[in-house]
Amino acid sequence: MQKIEHIGIAVKDLENANLLFKKLLNQTHYKIEEVVSEGVKTSFFKVGESKIELLQATNNESPIAKFIAKKGEGVHHIAFAVTDIYAEIKRLKSEGFTILNEKPKEGADNKLVAFLHPKSSNGVLIELCQEKERNDK
Ligand code: ZN
Repeated sequence: MQKIEHIGIAVKDLENANLLFKKLLNQTHYKIEEVVSEGVKTSFFKVGESKIELLQATNNESPIAKFIAKKGEGVHHIAFAVTDIYAEIKRLKSEGFTILNEKPKEGADNKLVAFLHPKSSNGVLIELCQEKERNDK
């Protein structure tokens, strides 16, 4: 694991949360991205080497909608940057962690992502993310 890539925060209203985090961090989000397959709309803020990802559900089946219904708004996951997501999944699996998707999927922000079940990591949803190769280079 290289660093904390970002911390994901579940919010009910992305527009309001963007305003709040603008005040908090004294800067504006640098992008908004919808991940249709996950039912989320996200915005990103840079904080030094790391980022804050705000997530709002776009439908009731979204994992974010379910999370907020259960726990309310708040920290949803911690994402670690990895250089080889396939190797990390294999390593963590052999260490006994439950991987939610063993085949990495497309996440926001040009990343391949995989999640570890919170039950196997002290109640914290862990995201692994690897920067995708850009095809346009
Ligand atoms: Zn994330």
